[in-house]
Amino acid sequence: MTGCLFCRIVSKEISSQIVYEDDRCVAFEDLNPQAPIHILVVPRKHLDSLTHATTADRNLLAHLLLTVNQLAKEKGVVDMGYRTVINTGLMGGQTVYHLHLHLLAGRPMRWPPG
Ligand code: 5GP
Ligand code: ZN
Repeated sequence: MTGCLFCRIVSKEISSQIVYEDDRCVAFEDLNPQAPIHILVVPRKHLDSLTHATTADRNLLAHLLLTVNQLAKEKGVVDMGYRTVINTGLMGGQTVYHLHLHLLAGRPMRWPPG
């Protein structure tokens, strides 16, 4: 989608620290990390938010979660634990309207989240 920040990162028009990519998603370091490990997993397909996913995206959503799982293993944070976040909409704290999963790890996470 023209003008979408994460579409531009996915197409490499804007550079980022990519840690993993395949035919369906790209994972890269968050520019403003909120934990020692803070990776964003982004589908190549533009979806404004989780709300915009449909049953046609079922396999894609599963793939995004399994990619977080894989990255957590590769980063060696499975034993210590990690957090996976999807912010959705204004009150959900979403700031970039291209669906993405946050993988946060390397410090204790609080609950409830801010
Ligand atoms: P949201 O608030 O929408 O859930 O998350 C958006 C995330 O994108 C934020 O954590 C923010 O730091 C990150 N971000 C915003 N702009 C850029 C950018 O240009 N490059 C990278 N790598 N991350 C970005
Ligand atoms: Zn996009």
